[in-house]
Amino acid sequence: MAELQEKKERNLDHLIEFMETKPRNFGELVHSAADSKPRRSFAPLIAKNETSLKNFTFSQKLKIAPRMARLMKGMWNGKRYYSKRVESKQTEAPLEVFEEIKQLVQRLGAIDVKFVKDLPLKQVFKGKSIPHQNAIVFTVEMDNDKIQTAPSFECFAEVAKGYGDLAVISNEVCKFIRKKGYSAYPSTAMGGQMDYVAMGELAGLGAIGYHGLLITPDAGARVRISTIYTDIDTFPVETENQHLWVRDFCSYCRKCVRSCPVQAINNEPQVNDNGDITCIDYKTCIKYFSANYGCANCIKVCPFSTAGYDKIQKGYLKKKSANERTDN
Ligand code: SF4
Ligand code: SF4
Repeated sequence: MAELQEKKERNLDHLIEFMETKPRNFGELVHSAADSKPRRSFAPLIAKNETSLKNFTFSQKLKIAPRMARLMKGMWNGKRYYSKRVESKQTEAPLEVFEEIKQLVQRLGAIDVKFVKDLPLKQVFKGKSIPHQNAIVFTVEMDNDKIQTAPSFECFAEVAKGYGDLAVISNEVCKFIRKKGYSAYPSTAMGGQMDYVAMGELAGLGAIGYHGLLITPDAGARVRISTIYTDIDTFPVETENQHLWVRDFCSYCRKCVRSCPVQAINNEPQVNDNGDITCIDYKTCIKYFSANYGCANCIKVCPFSTAGYDKIQKGYLKKKSANERTDN
């Protein structure tokens, strides 16, 4: 299994490298900014024989193999979109095209989709490039019953399914957009040239919670996120993110901070020199994460994952107005 995992990681590194270097031949590329942050490494910070993969039983290996195969196949299929530059005849697409994309992704299992125009270059990882500066961003849900078992093999398998869903949906959306005569490139379900969580917040799909994950109205933090880069520049954008109240709620909650088994989540997000925020100590998290089926405890305990967004918002607004009355 360790050899198999090592081979998969080699494949994954190769695939991500391909999708990052191939667009350099395109001529026109969108490059990261001088103050962009580097992408975190895929390699676990602990020895491979200390990861939870070594403890997989035979039946677990049988169960996870098709999910990993689906993910890898989806990602390898995605790379064919990078084999040559696509020239669009125009970049203006009617609103109906976006409506059709929305219907397509929802039919394929995504829960929400939005559009970002003129992506901030700071969100492109340091030294990376993307084919276009506009993107369709979408989320897929992970099953709450499986997440509630975290950290566990069941939860790990659910996360793997989520990544597979992202890869399949991205490819289908690219196929659809290109058939319509526009340019589109899938991003990699894992890795990628941009910070998908930041993209999700920029698109207005949710807000980043204290655990550094996107909190969404439909599934709380139980989502995975991906993007499709396109030169279409006429799709509607959210002018105001309706979900930013979540961070104020976080300042009262801090359940993920208290529940992290290795205290990797900052008591409150730290603002860096370049304006980015750091929510977790990545090095501390990744060691536990790698040894414990990808952990996901912070997704599990977040009230948005279980209680429901609307219910929490109602309680929050009630408390806020009661506080304001007291202050007056
Ligand atoms: S557990 Fe609480 S503090 Fe942490 S992200 Fe969720 S709502 Fe915010
Ligand atoms: S994944 Fe686990 S170790 Fe990492 S921050 Fe979340 S709860 Fe902590």
